[in-house]
Amino acid sequence: MLKIEHIGIAVEDLKAANELYKNLLGSEHYKEEAVEIEGVVTSFFKVGDTKIELLKATDPDSPIAKFIEHRGQGIHHIAFEVQDILVEMDRLKKLGFTFTKDTPSRGADNKLVCFVHPRSANGVLIELCQEIPA
Ligand code: ZN
Repeated sequence: MLKIEHIGIAVEDLKAANELYKNLLGSEHYKEEAVEIEGVVTSFFKVGDTKIELLKATDPDSPIAKFIEHRGQGIHHIAFEVQDILVEMDRLKKLGFTFTKDTPSRGADNKLVCFVHPRSANGVLIELCQEIPA
């Protein structure tokens, strides 16, 4: 794992959350991006070498909508940047970690992503992400 790439936070109202995090961090979000297959729109803030990713559901069946329904707004996942996502998935599977999907998919911010199931990580949803080469 290279670093904490970002922390994902589930929010109900993206506009209000953008304003709140702008005030909190003292800087504007630098982009918003929809990830249609996940049913979310995301907003990113830089914080030093890492990022905050706000996530708002665009579909009542999206994982973010379900998360908020069960647990309310709050920290949704921690994302670690990796050099090679397939190598890391393989390494972690051999150690007994389970994943929400068997193969990585295209996430926001030009990344390939996959998620370690919270059941195998002390209740924390862990994202692995790898920059897609330009
Ligand atoms: Zn994320």
